[in-house]
Amino acid sequence: MKNDLELFNELTELLLLEESEHPVATPIEAHALFESINIELGEEPTVDDEFKSILKDIVKRTPKTASKSFFNQLFGGRISRAALGDLLAVLLNNSMYTYKVAGVQVGIEKAILNNVCGFIGYPKESDGTIAPGGSMCNYMAMLMARDAFDASIRNTGMNKKLIAYTSDTSHYSIAKNASFVGIGRDQVRSIETNAKGEMEVEVLASQIQKDLNEGYHPFFVNATAGTTVLGAFDNVSDISKVCKAHNLWLHLDGAYCGSVIFSKRYKHLVNGIKNTDSFSFNAHKMLGTPLGCSIIVVKDKRYLYQSLSNDADYLYQTDDDAYNLGKTSLQCGRRNDALKLWTLWKSVGSKGLEQIVDHQFYLADVARDYIKNNKDYQLYSFDDSISVCFNYKGISAKKLCTKLYEHSELMVGYGTFRADTFIRLVTVNSQLKKDDILTFFKTLEAFVAEESF
Ligand SMILES: *Cc1c(COP(=O)(O)O)cnc(C)c1O
Repeated sequence: MKNDLELFNELTELLLLEESEHPVATPIEAHALFESINIELGEEPTVDDEFKSILKDIVKRTPKTASKSFFNQLFGGRISRAALGDLLAVLLNNSMYTYKVAGVQVGIEKAILNNVCGFIGYPKESDGTIAPGGSMCNYMAMLMARDAFDASIRNTGMNKKLIAYTSDTSHYSIAKNASFVGIGRDQVRSIETNAKGEMEVEVLASQIQKDLNEGYHPFFVNATAGTTVLGAFDNVSDISKVCKAHNLWLHLDGAYCGSVIFSKRYKHLVNGIKNTDSFSFNAHKMLGTPLGCSIIVVKDKRYLYQSLSNDADYLYQTDDDAYNLGKTSLQCGRRNDALKLWTLWKSVGSKGLEQIVDHQFYLADVARDYIKNNKDYQLYSFDDSISVCFNYKGISAKKLCTKLYEHSELMVGYGTFRADTFIRLVTVNSQLKKDDILTFFKTLEAFVAEESF
């Protein structure tokens, strides 16, 4: 183990150096890359020196998501206190299903869940779990909603047309999950959004009424805190009134921006959150923990048990249910995704989490101000969003993003909303400073000046 830890340190040094010297990995076609590096598996062992040199190659050739030039997705950067927790979790190697096997790690997960429930104002009957991703959190929410509507479906299967509602800018997992839980993709109503990409609540209400009139069974509404492209926030407060009137389960998908609950300044974006039935967020997005750290909480924990617990006596031989987390998870064996968020939270406090969140909005403001004050740019995004969408000199966003990547300048993606396609600069890396954002624009401008478009 000691030798491998030394090797690990050496590889880490290399990674940090690579991140600063080659922040964007050299683009290369997949099959050429796979052929240029010895990743094939064979009968014979690989001797130490060769093994080490292959690992170094792998580190060098892997896309750098923690560098200052990575803006491609809704995660990025590295907060070392969180990385430390995850490294420790790997070495401890517990499975989170029982207190017997996970011990204090159960308390660590519980501390996170309890505090999150507290932050959003859920009552003491609330609880939650950590799922393998935001998509799976949404899946669990839909599953609980299905069983809350009719618990007999768990045994007899579906015999009615259940209808789910989500906005046309929400995450694609909602439709996928509808097929998983057996209601079928065709039973998901895609609700129109306004010019900012927020769900039109009146349209939602009238669609529900229409479905009721036609004999269907509405059961679930998904609202989004931070839509994938524009980073828009649905009006949870208004949506919750519609749900209450029809007794529908309301889930808030905060995978991207749900972490605003930690910010005094920005939590108003999810006003009404305490009226939801479930809420999920990805700590590996705004809070900057390593992938994955996806948390779902539910207002009434009975639904968590109702949909997910399957008694398995061989497993649950000691302690009461509250500490046997396997009763409320999708998986059986489950990796410890709690510790990385706990090490971060414990070391910086809730105030530190707040600063992480606020800083991302600050960086987005820096970017938007720059764009607004420069007439070569066109802005498509709105205030209070950390997805800054724009075009430069009318150049095709797709072409520009592709070329920036091909020339190892920047990793940034493009998105589409209605008729517009634009570059989407995501300021989710809280390690960056104002200058890094300005450097992004300077790099882009210098690149355009040199290349022909
Ligand atoms: C990222 C994201 C998801 C999916 O989360 P994964 O952890 O990638 O499965 C769901 N909803 C929204 C709004 C997201 O941004």
